[in-house]
Amino acid sequence: MAVPKRKTSKAKTASRRASSYTLNKATINVCPNCQEPKLPHRVCANCGHYDSKEVINVEA
Ligand SMILES: [Zn+2]
Repeated sequence: MAVPKRKTSKAKTASRRASSYTLNKATINVCPNCQEPKLPHRVCANCGHYDSKEVINVEA
């Protein structure tokens, strides 16, 4: 069975992973109701709106 001749250096590992860190970066959208940053396809944690309707009550 073929075995790697050299240990992969920390720099090689880091540079390989660096590309996926930017590729898999989480998208952040702005809430149309309160302009707070929020994740797409999620209810806004600040105002509780989704699809310009109040879905959950956050001000308690
Ligand atoms: Zn909001």
